[in-house]
Amino acid sequence: MARLPIPEIVARMRHELLDWYESNKRDLPWRHTNDPYAIWVSEIMLQQTRVAVVIERWKGFLERFPTVQALAKADEQDVLALWSGLGYYRRARMLHKAAQTINAGHAGKMPSAATELRKLPGIGLYTAAAIASIAHGESVAVVDGNVERVLSRIRGWESHDAVGEAAVRRKVEEFSTALVDPRRPGDFNQAIMELGATVCTPRNPQCLVCPWRTECRTLGEHKTPKRAPMTRSEIACALVVWESDAGAEVLLEQRAATNTVMPGMWELPSLPEGDVVASEVRFTVRHAIMQVNYTVRVYALPPHEVSATAGNAADQRWVPVAEASAMALTGLARKVLTRAGLLQTSAHSKSAGFAPPAIRELV
Ligand code: SF4
Repeated sequence: MARLPIPEIVARMRHELLDWYESNKRDLPWRHTNDPYAIWVSEIMLQQTRVAVVIERWKGFLERFPTVQALAKADEQDVLALWSGLGYYRRARMLHKAAQTINAGHAGKMPSAATELRKLPGIGLYTAAAIASIAHGESVAVVDGNVERVLSRIRGWESHDAVGEAAVRRKVEEFSTALVDPRRPGDFNQAIMELGATVCTPRNPQCLVCPWRTECRTLGEHKTPKRAPMTRSEIACALVVWESDAGAEVLLEQRAATNTVMPGMWELPSLPEGDVVASEVRFTVRHAIMQVNYTVRVYALPPHEVSATAGNAADQRWVPVAEASAMALTGLARKVLTRAGLLQTSAHSKSAGFAPPAIRELV
């Protein structure tokens, strides 16, 4: 059990952190709303995705699904399409499922207490505490990776194995519960996460500008556990396009619903390793999925070569290029199609002159 700080120290730490937050917080769009649904969406997107990416995607998601009810009534493929490129698609599926649960079981109104939020699909301790404290002012502490790092460094808690990790985690939970300011729990929680994200970063913490430097026992000397290194891999996929009477079409393949990774999403047909493809590599892209950095060779194949080489024909479909953008594409498929000039980027959509390349330029 953690030795909790005496009340004077707690009061001082709250004051120091909230003062710092007022002057240093980033102007993020979800900090201008008390709508629990909008805060919920931001918290789910921010898990595993960079803030800069979330800013753009959060607005688009809320424009398309402005309420829990709108999200609940949406088709899952439309939700996945809007999530495309953010990765970790289970988050979108759980968000959708939870919206349906709220619509069916809570008369469309999100529960406000953290303990009730916690019962919804995909809402864990962290997300429930974040929504309840920020949207409803419930005095409950959040503990994410940032909070754990900051408080471990303040106290000098280290772990060397799984048992040690669990013990540190428990001490951090007790410490954060004692620290959270009951008068401003939402601001306090956002402030401590902001401190971890911008000052007490995993590498090179900026102790000189830290509001808690006088409270900190380690001052940058804490041994933060190293992350598992990324591995590398090479894969190949087929870009197959043809010009039908209706316009350019691209061959896409739907991942099996039973697949544990990105089930039901659309991708380019893959080429088996070692397969000899007559055409040359059209281009390569780099793409990271979880702990793997992929180098992806993209072959532009004429349609008659596909059936013998690429993917699973039963799950393939010719899709008009103009419709592909709105589909639940994997991040890699979206990246390849954009690189091939077949999808509009946000820069394109802002200019009127986007035109896909002629098919003969691709094959
Ligand atoms: S003083 Fe340095 S190590 Fe300690 S909490 Fe602040 S930034 Fe982190």
